[in-house]
Amino acid sequence: MTILSNCREIAATIEMELNAVNRNRDAVTCVAVTKLRSLEETEVLYEQGLNHFGENRVEGLIEKQAHFKQTDIKWHFIGSLQTRKVKDVINRIDYFHALDRETLAKEINKRAEKQMACFVQVNVAGEASKHGLSPEELQDFITLLEAYPQIQVVGLMTMAPIDADDETLHRIFYQLKKLQEAVAERNLPYAPCTETSMGMSRDYPIAIQEGATFVRIGSSFFEETE
Ligand SMILES: *Cc1c(COP(=O)(O)O)cnc(C)c1O
Repeated sequence: MTILSNCREIAATIEMELNAVNRNRDAVTCVAVTKLRSLEETEVLYEQGLNHFGENRVEGLIEKQAHFKQTDIKWHFIGSLQTRKVKDVINRIDYFHALDRETLAKEINKRAEKQMACFVQVNVAGEASKHGLSPEELQDFITLLEAYPQIQVVGLMTMAPIDADDETLHRIFYQLKKLQEAVAERNLPYAPCTETSMGMSRDYPIAIQEGATFVRIGSSFFEETE
């Protein structure tokens, strides 16, 4: 079965990349991006030991959670989120990967019943089509989050351009890592910022080389390989 062999291949690649840069085997958490995938496909991933799932639509998240009652599953919301939908999502998830504006922070703060682990999204590559703060805006944004005690900044998140070459990918992920370290060095109680969410199917090996602690992998789990 395709998903089974892809799971093994991805696990082996993650281990190999960590090893190559002398990082611990458990230094990366793999978020299996199950958006638009069936319950059956998601079952196979869970049986293979994956228990971090990423969704980017409210409906998809609710459908998966109605089926998977296992308490060891961590749910990640990885997509951009409209402010008015925060209330439908925020108390269902363990991590939110796309905090990119104050209106969203304010709404999360208002609706969250407990402190919410958030990644601040940074548009490192400066693509007009992508969400996220510019690197220049980041530190001031982190500062203003102090006003929203339900938000815990666990790390930074970025998406690389689809057409980036390897050298560009290294540069983007390296830059996100440096930005993360700069926030962490501020020692803010509400922004420990120890994590980097970076790397998708196409570019996760490079992200791991550059220090990713969360990778978000979707299509590689499901695609036929020759
Ligand atoms: C869909 C998605 C992914 C996974 O992308 P693949 O290329 O399928 O691995 C990761 N992160 C975000 C934010 C996504 O929307």
